Amino acid sequence: MQQLILPVLLVSFLTTCTRAGDWCYQSQFACDHQCNAPGNWNHAHSDCEGRNQSPINVVTRKTLKDERLTPFKFDNYQQIFRATIKNNGHSVQVGVPNLSTISDGGLPGGYKAVQFHLHWGNNGGPGSEHTIDGEQYPMELHIVHMKQHYTDLTTALSDPEGVAVLGFFYERSTSANRKYEPIIKALQNIKAANGNTSLNSISLAQLIPPEKNLTTYYRYKGSLTTPGCTEAVIWTLFENPIPLSVEQLRAFSELKFQNGKQMVGTFRPVQPLNGRQVFRSGGAAILASSALLVAAIAMAFALSPVD
Ligand SMILES: [Zn+2]
Repeated sequence: MQQLILPVLLVSFLTTCTRAGDWCYQSQFACDHQCNAPGNWNHAHSDCEGRNQSPINVVTRKTLKDERLTPFKFDNYQQIFRATIKNNGHSVQVGVPNLSTISDGGLPGGYKAVQFHLHWGNNGGPGSEHTIDGEQYPMELHIVHMKQHYTDLTTALSDPEGVAVLGFFYERSTSANRKYEPIIKALQNIKAANGNTSLNSISLAQLIPPEKNLTTYYRYKGSLTTPGCTEAVIWTLFENPIPLSVEQLRAFSELKFQNGKQMVGTFRPVQPLNGRQVFRSGGAAILASSALLVAAIAMAFALSPVD
């Protein structure tokens, strides 16, 4: 009888350790912090094991050029607004007044901005959710939009095309990106989970590359990249990255998760395509521009100080 006790105790300890608690990223998981890491998100959220999940790795030579993927029409993206920036325990998120809208870009109608948030690595290391030909960028911006006639995201998520997310990659640059200073400064006031502070004047346009550099992008249908993983998202991934200095990228790693640990590695691993086709916009000169991109990143690495 006694011989049975140890194995039983061990098994119950292991199951508690991997099963209990709220969802978390792999970087947060530890046996003294019981949470559901990405491989277990489906325990509480069955959609997370669906067949159309995000993020994905984009294999550029397998993308299909689609002439319907025209440039986007951005309305009120220049509009300056006041907002609250929050450490929500998983990321940093900014609620956006529903004034800024997008249309065209092959979308089935107009979509209005709801919020934006970011995914990042450890001190400027790999941290994007989507990867391009296996390359993981240091950070990824998601500007979440919903179809214009919806009033809340929950309702929009019940429509298979209810949500459109614009994804932007970041690359290391040798000089700081001044347009990001309001956000970088605000991070100091929201290091603790659930901390929030105000951003006095910000526009969506100031966070992304100029419109003329947004004509080349990838398109596929996927899901939210956090639980409930709802498959209601039209994804757009812009090829042109946003430059940030290593110091600016590092500022995000000073935030803390709920348990006080460093908020790093806030990305879900890439998910199987399951036969989905990834399209690219009409204007994309894939091979030449990605070669340039690789060269630019190599330059940035070569030029960045080593410590
Ligand atoms: Zn996201």
